[in-house]
Amino acid sequence: MTGRVIPLGRIAGIPIRLDSSWFLIFALVTWTLAAGYYPAEFKGWPRWEYWMIGAVTAIMFFISVVLHELSHALVARYFGTSVQSITLFIFGGVSRLGGVPASATREILIAAAGPAASLLLAAVFRVLEPAASALAPAALALLRYLAYINLMLGLFNLIPGFPLDGGRVFRGIVWGVTHDADRATRVAGTVGRVVGYLFVLFGVWQILGGNFINGLWISFIGWFLENAAMSEMQGQAILEILTGHKVREAMRPDYTSVPADRTLQQLVDGHVLVHGQRSFLVERDGRVVGLLTLHGITRQPRPSWPTVRAEDVMIPRTKMRTTRRDADLRDVLEHMDRDGVNQLPVIENSHLSFAKTSSTSIVDG
Ligand SMILES: [Zn+2]
Repeated sequence: MTGRVIPLGRIAGIPIRLDSSWFLIFALVTWTLAAGYYPAEFKGWPRWEYWMIGAVTAIMFFISVVLHELSHALVARYFGTSVQSITLFIFGGVSRLGGVPASATREILIAAAGPAASLLLAAVFRVLEPAASALAPAALALLRYLAYINLMLGLFNLIPGFPLDGGRVFRGIVWGVTHDADRATRVAGTVGRVVGYLFVLFGVWQILGGNFINGLWISFIGWFLENAAMSEMQGQAILEILTGHKVREAMRPDYTSVPADRTLQQLVDGHVLVHGQRSFLVERDGRVVGLLTLHGITRQPRPSWPTVRAEDVMIPRTKMRTTRRDADLRDVLEHMDRDGVNQLPVIENSHLSFAKTSSTSIVDG
């Protein structure tokens, strides 16, 4: 992901978003189709028609990508894994799942659902071709290309290079066979990196053969895949290091609590700027009543800082996620990552009045 993310709305309750890098690929696909593919395949149309059908095809292609991602997302949700968002970006789409599937079989089915949807779409477009050709040459051209591109999308994603869908299926198979999810990630990640390197090599070979644009694109995809596999493996390595450790070993025992009536300006001047502090427990009468984060402060317009108080923008105690000193560190960090939480108060005793002593800490992730 590169830059700004534009929300498009929700399908089945799942937010669909557009990364700004998508516009680049949209322009590139439209241009390739309007200036290359369509004029070569279907001769004698007016120029504007190539551009129009090019743009329509590009949009239909990205709708196909959304259907591919939705298919992952709905199967994941069926198996009880929450889906946070679907984002379209320069290399296609990505579904952000709230956590790892609970079993190897589920992982395989969730991963396979996307390519299955693409192959099904390809078949549907193929079947509709005769009807379209009776309608208009442009309709035939559109359907023929969509059948082709969905077939490619399905087949490409079945390549067993983690984190492509095929790589996830592969990971699920290794997991099922070895009963060791960590090992499966390492094996699939290694294969994913190899596949990434092979793409780069193939791309370079294409470039040397004079096929510059295609070669560059293939290398670029290979580089992206290798990076993605690498970062999955690094994340896995961190999780494995944490296995068996407890929250108390990683928490920061010192924390700052601030009175609920302190203004944001006072907090910024006295704590954020001086100590670089990013989160505060908010207390009233010696009891923790909420958590205030730097993010919560910066969401407020600056001119309001001298008047808005900590308790006005804090996350109230009832909505605060907390953890315990003896909780499993790996579990906690996986949950924090899933929920997009950067710090988590550790509350030792259910009596909040004790929270002011060293029994409360902030885990900073
Ligand atoms: Zn997929």
